[in-house]
Amino acid sequence: MQFSDFGLESRLISTVEHLGFTAPTEIQQQAIPAAMKGHDLIASSKTGSGKTLAFILPALQRLAKNRALSKRDPRVVILTPTRELAKQVFSQLRLFTSNTQFKAVLILGGENFNDQVKVLEKDPHFIVATPGRLADHLTQGHFYLNGLELLILDEADRMLDLGFAKQLTQINNAADHRKRQTLLFSATLDHAQVNEFAQELLKKPKRIAIGGAFTEHNDISKRFYLADNLEHKEALLQNFLKNEIYQQVIIFTATRSDTERLANILVKQDLSAVALSGELNQGQRNQIMEGFSKGHHKILVTTDLASRGLDLVNVSLVINFDMPKHAEEFIHRIGRTGRAGSKGDAIAFVGPKDWLSFKNVEGLLEQTISFDKVDSLQAKFKGLKPKKAKAKKSETNANKAIRSKTSKTKKATKKVFHVAQDVGDMPIIKRKQPLSAQQIEDSKLDETK
Ligand code: AMP
Repeated sequence: MQFSDFGLESRLISTVEHLGFTAPTEIQQQAIPAAMKGHDLIASSKTGSGKTLAFILPALQRLAKNRALSKRDPRVVILTPTRELAKQVFSQLRLFTSNTQFKAVLILGGENFNDQVKVLEKDPHFIVATPGRLADHLTQGHFYLNGLELLILDEADRMLDLGFAKQLTQINNAADHRKRQTLLFSATLDHAQVNEFAQELLKKPKRIAIGGAFTEHNDISKRFYLADNLEHKEALLQNFLKNEIYQQVIIFTATRSDTERLANILVKQDLSAVALSGELNQGQRNQIMEGFSKGHHKILVTTDLASRGLDLVNVSLVINFDMPKHAEEFIHRIGRTGRAGSKGDAIAFVGPKDWLSFKNVEGLLEQTISFDKVDSLQAKFKGLKPKKAKAKKSETNANKAIRSKTSKTKKATKKVFHVAQDVGDMPIIKRKQPLSAQQIEDSKLDETK
């Protein structure tokens, strides 16, 4: 199949060709024709599968072919859970809109509110935004959505996990008319709240599932190493940074303080490392991400803040210095490498504190993982034995939920993502008491303080 088979405008096809894409990816093959027919979609696909173009292309086609419903209102709104992902979607969109009459704007939390009001006054056709800030502008009447034609929810599962249900509902209700089309993308369709939401928002949606969202990423080779403690992990890290061949590497840690500590150690050894740390303000964070994506640094040390969606094509190695608390996050982390068909390596250190998370990842991947060894750095730690009674008692809801993924019963899969546990920097949110838009924005701003 080729992009020209979709019946897209020739200008869109030439931009795609200009980007060097010869054939549509699987998600593009399925989502583009369905979206062009006007169907609502609920779609899942692996990280790095090309889903951004799968929604950008039909959106652009629709705008070029259909008359606007309103002169002033935005025609397409794309919502993403994080600022970093929003920026990335925006930059792909700009490649297509820059030589057209269509205006696209980016509205993010943590940036100047009044500047955004001015931008919204210019009646953009496309808005790419994080939901909290966009809902604030909507509440204050800075724009209206009566003429919205296409609402796109990227990583809807993550937005719901972050507590944005209220803002998504508000945005949906402001654009609730017959002609509106909705495209919902989620890492998994096995998510009770996503399904509830889909029922509320989508009209007779087509379901598109490309592989399991958690199927193995064949382009990424994974290695696991046992570690005794922090010092041992640091020694392993030094070893791999010295001996592995990589273009760029992302190191994931559990805590923000560790990102900085590790980056400092590496810089002292003349390595080109930078930390995406909590001390930075939004501008500095942007600069770091931009610098890293342009190749100014070889090593990025971060928490799960950078685990989703980011498209960093030169990252060939991911090191899990600590295992993530949520097993799903492991898939997103290692998905930072092996993008768009290129090969990648993922290494993980498993110490006593990581053991439970490691077992969850093992369960999620549905395989028994064996450990690799570095001869000079072998661990005394050999894993924790399950203590039956105790293990059962201390089993968290998250573990139960992950375990339930493998059992196929409907009942068991219900609670997968609704557990109040922190994922690196993410705020702890209980589903029953969602934070207000302002609280969510504030908690994110806190990260930058
Ligand atoms: P995404 O899943 O949208 O984040 O895209 C992941 C990567 O795949 C990005 O670098 C895209 O530019 C790239 N990409 C998107 N579509 C294609 C395609 N049809 N062929 C090759 N690469 C693609």
